[in-house]
Amino acid sequence: MSTKKILNFINGEFTEGTSGKTFEDRNPVDNSLVGTVYEAGEADVDTAVKAAKAALKGPWGKMTLQQRVDMLYKVADRINERFDEFLEAECADTGKPYSLASHIDIPRGAANFKVFADVVKNVPEEAFRLDTPDGKGALNVGQRSPKGVIAVISPWNLPLLLMTWKVGPALACGNTVVVKPSEETPQTTALLGDVMRECGMPEGVFNVIHGFGPNSAGAFLTAHPGVDAITFTGETRTGEIITQAAAIGLRDVSMECGGKNAAIVFADCDMDKAIEGTMRSAFANCGQVCLGTERVYVERPIFDEFVSRLAEAAKGLKLGAPQDKATSMGPLISLEHREKVLSYYKLAVEEGATVVTGGGIPDMPGDMAEGAWIEPTIWTGLADDARVVKEEIFGPCCHIRPFDTEDEVIELANDNVYGLATAIWTENSSRAIRVSEQIEVGLAWVNSWFLRDLRTSFGGAKQSGMGREGGVHSLEFYTEMKNICIKL
Ligand code: NAD
Repeated sequence: MSTKKILNFINGEFTEGTSGKTFEDRNPVDNSLVGTVYEAGEADVDTAVKAAKAALKGPWGKMTLQQRVDMLYKVADRINERFDEFLEAECADTGKPYSLASHIDIPRGAANFKVFADVVKNVPEEAFRLDTPDGKGALNVGQRSPKGVIAVISPWNLPLLLMTWKVGPALACGNTVVVKPSEETPQTTALLGDVMRECGMPEGVFNVIHGFGPNSAGAFLTAHPGVDAITFTGETRTGEIITQAAAIGLRDVSMECGGKNAAIVFADCDMDKAIEGTMRSAFANCGQVCLGTERVYVERPIFDEFVSRLAEAAKGLKLGAPQDKATSMGPLISLEHREKVLSYYKLAVEEGATVVTGGGIPDMPGDMAEGAWIEPTIWTGLADDARVVKEEIFGPCCHIRPFDTEDEVIELANDNVYGLATAIWTENSSRAIRVSEQIEVGLAWVNSWFLRDLRTSFGGAKQSGMGREGGVHSLEFYTEMKNICIKL
């Protein structure tokens, strides 16, 4: 099978760039070569940022709001028309099942353009009437303008979805973007360049540069003085480094970072729903979801039943090729990431865990034996200060611990440096509200998980991030608010 050439997209053109460097894009299903990625050098990043800067003053900057909205609708429609290409590319890069990516990644990736076009079109601007000593008053009118060139740095777990979650609002607000997709998943971002070109997006509005973080495209981009703001999704440690880069020139940052999310299961829950929801939150996307559950707290009377039912369900997961309709779990993103996850599987045993199910590498047939497969894993019996209970693993695994009281479980859930999301399972709505209010997170789900109304805020507390995205909250980051005070 021939492999693809995955190019940078700068100022409306696909280009190999000038670094002379390439790297491999491998499929984690069988470690086969998908394509050769052309790494952007410092000069290419500079060209991309300058093109994005120039585009702010070109036809893009002169478009009416309605023209911009129409353009973003066209982009979303075109992604949907090329759905199968996006699907194939995303699944080749990530190994995730087609059933998952066709349901979540690609449709949501397209929808982000329409959702934010609608938000920007419909949000009112503020106006305040001020009394003045002469009795004539003054009128204050708020006006939002684009912030400028936005650097978008995205991760590999939901490549198209998380990238358009930033590019959608950035463009809707009239900015231009330079996107650095994860080195693990370069394809769908590059493909979006082609869609932009087909839709007649003016040159320089959407740029893609490929590469890594330190001493590569990521660092070159975040350090570039022409970048006006940086939006990032990825690990907290990387977020800290990028925030330091952004401090030079006081550039604004939006940070969506790691999590070690707790699920809280009360004895009065609907057990079927709690099992189904926790199955998804722990194992969907092979556990590589920032909002996923890695700590499960279960009220003691139902602890044994919950553990055995979740373990049964986990054993029923079908690991297999993305195209296979029966597949419910794919591999991890890479062999390198599998090393990391396996090191935690080993550590769990060293820390005294009981391995309820999983804990190793599954036997996969044929070429898949070369892939980054791992078993879905459940532990019990770890101490609250075990590293496996404290640190983000980002794999298909969770630790289950019993609790006795509401106060105790709130304290346990909050005893972590992260604060991204939680899922609370109870049929008692007063308790659901009481507990949700006390959990230190940006997103609390009650009797659900991953249910998202895109008009609502999204983001993490504590070390899970800075700022909020979603709906009007995205406008805070992607626009510069100006107050115009008119003395009457
Ligand atoms: P990562 O931090 O390793 O990489 C993310 C991106 O940053 C990549 O594009 C990478 O090339 C780039 N990068 C790395 N170092 C850089 C540097 N010094 N300067 C500029 N760019 C740099 O994260 P990952 O492994 O791709 O993703 C997994 C992590 O993302 C997990 O911690 C997960 O929780 C988090 N995540 C968070 C959310 C959220 O919404 N909060 C969503 C998805 C993933």
